[in-house]
Amino acid sequence: MPLPPDPADFLLDGHSPNRYEGDLAGAIATVSRRLTNCTAPFSGVDHRAARRAVESIDLSRPLDDTSSALRELDDLYLRDAVYFHHPRYLAHLNCPVATPAVAADAIASAVNSSLDTWDQSGGGTLIEQRLIDWTCKRLGFNPQFADGIFTSGGTQSNLHALYLAREHALACRGVDRVEAVSRLRVFTSADSHFSVRTAARLLGLPAEAVHAVATDSNRRMNTDELRSAIVAARADGSIPMAVVATAGTTDFGVIDPLDEIADIVDRQPESVWLHVDAAYGGGLLVSPTRRSLLRGIERAHSATIDFHKSFFQPVSASAVLVRRAEWMDPGRHHADYLNPARMARAGIPNQVDKSLQTTRRFDALKLWLTLRVMGADAVGELFDRVIELASAAYELIATDTRFTVVTTSDLSTVVFRFAPSDAAELDPELLDAANLAARTALSANAEAMIASTVVDDRTFLKFTLLNPRTTLDDIAEVLELIAAYASAPLPAEPSLAS
Ligand SMILES: *Cc1c(COP(=O)(O)O)cnc(C)c1O
Repeated sequence: MPLPPDPADFLLDGHSPNRYEGDLAGAIATVSRRLTNCTAPFSGVDHRAARRAVESIDLSRPLDDTSSALRELDDLYLRDAVYFHHPRYLAHLNCPVATPAVAADAIASAVNSSLDTWDQSGGGTLIEQRLIDWTCKRLGFNPQFADGIFTSGGTQSNLHALYLAREHALACRGVDRVEAVSRLRVFTSADSHFSVRTAARLLGLPAEAVHAVATDSNRRMNTDELRSAIVAARADGSIPMAVVATAGTTDFGVIDPLDEIADIVDRQPESVWLHVDAAYGGGLLVSPTRRSLLRGIERAHSATIDFHKSFFQPVSASAVLVRRAEWMDPGRHHADYLNPARMARAGIPNQVDKSLQTTRRFDALKLWLTLRVMGADAVGELFDRVIELASAAYELIATDTRFTVVTTSDLSTVVFRFAPSDAAELDPELLDAANLAARTALSANAEAMIASTVVDDRTFLKFTLLNPRTTLDDIAEVLELIAAYASAPLPAEPSLAS
């Protein structure tokens, strides 16, 4: 009987090159096999059956070798995972990932740098800072004065930005904090991301603090409404703290009129923070043809960019950027054990003093390797392709009398609904259910993954296109399937449509 291995042999160090290479090679082969043989974005597995399989695993009995564990995982997870690289994955803001980024993630995990301080990351800190400067420059922020930090995602980036905005509003006015917080107001379009509302709540703002500004017929923030909402807020004693513009709404991919909004903010008698949530539209920063859609973003106090959406990066990779480094000061802190002030004075670089996180993954590395291998233009060209595809898909749907479509997109979504023009007298609730049933059937039959949303109280379907390999033929075929499923008699079981 072979001796059981010393548990320390499982640790990655200079004694384990064979195990390291073997484990990674096994993992790569397992994933590669799935990617090559993948015929659908999702198997359609029922969640109850999947749960039984996961629960049947006895975690107190390890398999001891990686290949057995990988075989088990292949069955348990990879077979029924949702594959964003598949051309029929049309649902949410998830992208196929660039291979240099995947390689970089493997390096980041193996070296395991923690990007809080220089003495835990060495050059990693500098690579992140360089990418922050690069992103600031693309935004039109002067990198000499600007700053930022990588975060776990747009949700955290928005929270961080609104935290800085709150501190800025309170500091500018020199008011009593406790009393003033209840009067702070945030103005954002009715279509902005829910994380803006969550952030306001976490920051102690009252429930009515976030004013949902109405959108115009193209679903952009209506600037007349914004202007009058700010005036009304001032009149009732509230303090306009921030305007959050969205550069690419999650549902419609439309960009708020950034320059006009910046004009309104600039004309306020007291400083109001402008945050641009470009979690989705950030990819336009590298677009060879569409960068101008972000015109005005350079006037923001802060911006959110999600590299894990339109830069084809693995989750997680996001950043919050500010036009003036000192605006990050309210978040700065010095811990004696970690980043004492004397180290900052000595000019030793660190990122932790401005981050909401302490231990933090080296997520910047994947963007770095992507830019060093592919270059920014190539990334932007991929984003351009899906934007063009969405525009062609819009034309296809808009001219098809079986569907109605909400609006054109600046980015890569299409929101539409099966509603045949010869069925105008149909009960809208039946149509809601028919559209949902079509979505459910596409997934259950392993044909495509699409999303649904609600527009003006009615159920709509949504394509979010982030895969440059998806073709207009894919879209046309999925539309035929939707029409067929949605016009079939509704199943008696209402839960099927939920
Ligand atoms: C996706 C998205 C977010 C949230 O970002 P996460 O990375 O999912 O946390 C915020 N704002 C907009 C506009 C988004 O599309």
